[in-house]
Amino acid sequence: MEVRMIINEQLERIYPEMVSWRRYLHEHPELSFQEVNTARFIAEKLEQMGIEITRNVGGHGIVGRLKGEKAGPVVALRADMDALPIQDEKDCAYASKISGRMHACGHDGHIAGLLGAAYVLSRMKEHLHGSILFLFQPAEEVNPGGAERMVAEGALDGVDVIYGVHLWSQFPVGKVYSVTGPMMAAADEFLIEISGKGGHGGVPQESIDSILVGSQLVVNLQTIVSRNVDPTSAAVVSVGSFHSGSSFNVIADRCKLSGTVRTFDEQIRRRIEERIHEITAHTCAMHGAQYEWNYIRGYPAVVNDATETQRFFRVAADLFGNEQVERSPLSMAGEDFSYYLQSIPGCYMFVGAGNPDKGIVAPHHHPEFDIDERSILHAARLMIHLSLDYMNEAWQTRSLAQE
Ligand code: MN
Repeated sequence: MEVRMIINEQLERIYPEMVSWRRYLHEHPELSFQEVNTARFIAEKLEQMGIEITRNVGGHGIVGRLKGEKAGPVVALRADMDALPIQDEKDCAYASKISGRMHACGHDGHIAGLLGAAYVLSRMKEHLHGSILFLFQPAEEVNPGGAERMVAEGALDGVDVIYGVHLWSQFPVGKVYSVTGPMMAAADEFLIEISGKGGHGGVPQESIDSILVGSQLVVNLQTIVSRNVDPTSAAVVSVGSFHSGSSFNVIADRCKLSGTVRTFDEQIRRRIEERIHEITAHTCAMHGAQYEWNYIRGYPAVVNDATETQRFFRVAADLFGNEQVERSPLSMAGEDFSYYLQSIPGCYMFVGAGNPDKGIVAPHHHPEFDIDERSILHAARLMIHLSLDYMNEAWQTRSLAQE
């Protein structure tokens, strides 16, 4: 209990700085794989805390390593760093200073929260049974992203467990969420180009109308989720672009489509990819059209480890109260935290950051996106206490084994 009070005190003391860090980063957003200044900022803060760092991991990623004074497991905590190509339309003192760029997903808050956690943990080294890695990851918003590269470059070598949070404006500040198993979707992209035969609009019998083929294809693709996927499983197939034709009296020879596929299950994901290809091939064949197609796999689904999610529910209920902890609904958004969870056990969590009373309601990736900054504190508390709980449990198990 005493340790918890010290942590709370330290967090409250550092909180105004966490807010100023978040606001500085909010004013100076950098796009995916261009996070030079953000990385410099993070490195400087970690070094001031006496945390050993490695730069340029997976791009501009920073890995901070805090060694506890006692032996034990290695816990990793992750924050992503990149902003989006969106014009900030908020009217506030800390709005983006860079035209056409904005932290519209809250990654600035993730950095501030993890730096706050690092500060508090760095001051209690003598209590730590093990080490903590602070993973500041670049490029979460593009595919391929930074997580996959950080893993490939060994960021998880020797790591036992990983935790990460996403501040979420669609959930109220004060509440926290997670769920065992799949939580966020695999997000893939498909591109199809149909080649028909152009001709005079009044002489259709001598042409192959790519607009007609494309239109039928869009309709046929909608049978995949309704007829090829188990109705108790979630999946999305959306056509997001359709481009064809140039004139009212010409039959278009080409039609380009693109779309996205969202799934939670690898088998369903493969089945949908197959069906898109089959339906494209046969719809084109029916009209004598040709096609080219490309299916680009995005991030896999975020799948939480059962034991670590149980830990989340226990630790979070203890910190915030039972009524503040919820089972997360499935999110159709993608998140490259999935790559860490494919390598080691861990848990990804949503931390409520919305506050309708303060007008903080805009969804993520929206030009008016903002967070209730108290959410940063909640994120830091959660990550600190999950780390300590994991380490203490490992330590207790080890001492019992030695008795
Ligand atoms: Mn995000």
